[in-house]
Amino acid sequence: MTRAICFDLDGTLFDDRQYIRGGLRHAGRVLADETGVDLTAELLAAYFEDGITDSTFDAVLEAHGLSTDLVPTLIDAYHDNDAALSPYPGAVSTLETLEDAYRLGVITGGTNGRAKLRRLGLEEFFEAVYVGPTFGTTKHDPEIFEAALETLGVEPAEAMYVGDRPSLDFPQPNQLGMTTVRVTTGRYADRPVSGDNAADHCITGLQALPAVLEIIHQ
Ligand SMILES: [Mg+2]
Repeated sequence: MTRAICFDLDGTLFDDRQYIRGGLRHAGRVLADETGVDLTAELLAAYFEDGITDSTFDAVLEAHGLSTDLVPTLIDAYHDNDAALSPYPGAVSTLETLEDAYRLGVITGGTNGRAKLRRLGLEEFFEAVYVGPTFGTTKHDPEIFEAALETLGVEPAEAMYVGDRPSLDFPQPNQLGMTTVRVTTGRYADRPVSGDNAADHCITGLQALPAVLEIIHQ
């Protein structure tokens, strides 16, 4: 019997491209203030069109003959912005449907998990929030899942993990014996899966989660 449901954050509860776009815009403004050169459009194009999703600031600064000394400042600016974020359609209504019957948690490997939840207006739903960089491990280790389950007072067999990125979100919960649910909303929707990367259930949106729980409990 499922008693607790933990969610991944980025790409599961909201489209994290919003966070990236807001962060790159804010970093672009800081860069313009510091250097007089506005590369905001170039940063967005590098990330979203050219697929330079790692070391994006280094790549764009180097391409424009600017020193990379500013990269740490730009990374801070990227994370330090308060642009509003919106949950996926159906996220709030689903959490409202589930919150009375289940203990809810978030396990995220992303930076600033709590700030994202606050900006999304979702903080109140979750009794346990585990953020990888704060906790000190990643979702490739079982500890962060075990800690969340302990806080929620459930055994793995009584817990579900809902995520969007098969290779990161499902191996550990599957090995622990949690029920896993893949939601194909984010940018990993087309990723092929096999073995421990495969979830027990697959849904195209969070609004389908209550139906999955009904099937499990039949
Ligand atoms: Mg994710």
